Amino acid sequence: MYEVWGGWAITSEGIKENYSFAIEKDRILDMGPRNEMKKKYSFDDSVGKKHHIICPGFVDAHMHSFQLATKGLTADESLLDWLKKYIWKWEGELTKERAKSCAEVSYLQMIRCGVTTFSDYTSVHHTEEAFKAAKKFGMRALIGKTIMDRNSPAELEESTDKCLKETKVLLKKWHGKNKGLLNYAVTPRFCISSSDELLRGCKKICDKEGVLFRTHTEENKSEVAWEKKAYGKSSIQHLDSLGLLNERALLTHCVWSSQKDITLMAKRGASLAHCPGSNMLLASGTPDIPYMLKKGVNVCIGTDVAAYYNFSMFEQARLACLMQKEERKDPHAMHHEDAFKMATINGARALGFKETGELKIGNKADLVLLSTNHLAFSPLNDIISQIVYSAFPSTVDTVICNGKILMRERTLLVGDARRIMYRAKEILGVKK
Ligand SMILES: [Zn+2]
Repeated sequence: MYEVWGGWAITSEGIKENYSFAIEKDRILDMGPRNEMKKKYSFDDSVGKKHHIICPGFVDAHMHSFQLATKGLTADESLLDWLKKYIWKWEGELTKERAKSCAEVSYLQMIRCGVTTFSDYTSVHHTEEAFKAAKKFGMRALIGKTIMDRNSPAELEESTDKCLKETKVLLKKWHGKNKGLLNYAVTPRFCISSSDELLRGCKKICDKEGVLFRTHTEENKSEVAWEKKAYGKSSIQHLDSLGLLNERALLTHCVWSSQKDITLMAKRGASLAHCPGSNMLLASGTPDIPYMLKKGVNVCIGTDVAAYYNFSMFEQARLACLMQKEERKDPHAMHHEDAFKMATINGARALGFKETGELKIGNKADLVLLSTNHLAFSPLNDIISQIVYSAFPSTVDTVICNGKILMRERTLLVGDARRIMYRAKEILGVKK
């Protein structure tokens, strides 16, 4: 058993000072004021410093590790052009070695950013490389092969039967594995590239296995127009008519979703992975997050790498607030405490990891220590406001997932970071 302590802790019961957590195996066994905890337990190790803020591990609810190598190519493109010109080309040429390298580099960067849990959309091929990397580093992850059975480039399009068969094989092999840290999500890319037969097959698998369904929805105006023409209704309404909208559905973007769509999502209990950085970079638009929150939709946040270029959840939480304030010319349009919840507890709920996302007794031990010996926190006036509006990945000192210390005092304890980064330089990189 070891202790995690700091000058401040953001717990399920509010912000506490001089606080300590007793970590036994993968769980938070106890928590309380440090002087009391020291009397109560004899710890084998002590992690933390007086100048640390302890907060729950961050949850990146939407990213694409295999797209990492295309970083930098999004600028000045719209969604469909970016997909056709860069992403599908890269994914079509993806080798096993490149997939492995992308996943390993992405996850190491995420640890450095304080992310313990994530939702990774892999490509059509080599999904296992993502599972293997997440297992190797001991991270909590929702991973799934992206499936496409129409309107897609030849290298990525597969028959409906093959999409579903491979999904089932990967699910069987990886869902619930590595002590429950790894889960599978059934992942059609978006409605344009998914036949109704494929979507019906996805529903069957999700219902039978009790796994999550996730897809991109209503991100871009041209996409929405295409779907409206094809279905005579929005893609969210279409997914609902196929029975896919429920509490196990995790939709991403919903930039152009109508109030009717949003009401439907709230009614069915579906979650939204909001990606403000990517929405702005691709000029997709601004989703009506305040309305979604008002309606009770569970909104979480994703970096959407590589439609954005880094894994900082601080930055995405910040952008989520600024985007709404700017769009609505209202300083109250989005509160930083809501953004913090979106980056932690809401993400954990959306990804189906019920025992994480907040610091409380009995929960899984996913904790991040931030150093206040950093300009972002000098002076320290409002902890959550400063985490959202001024923190950077360099404030992350220590990262713990499922009781295992992944990074301690900025030193990665998992994987050989230097070798992985060196190898990545050799095999990644895309010519424009
Ligand atoms: Zn995406």
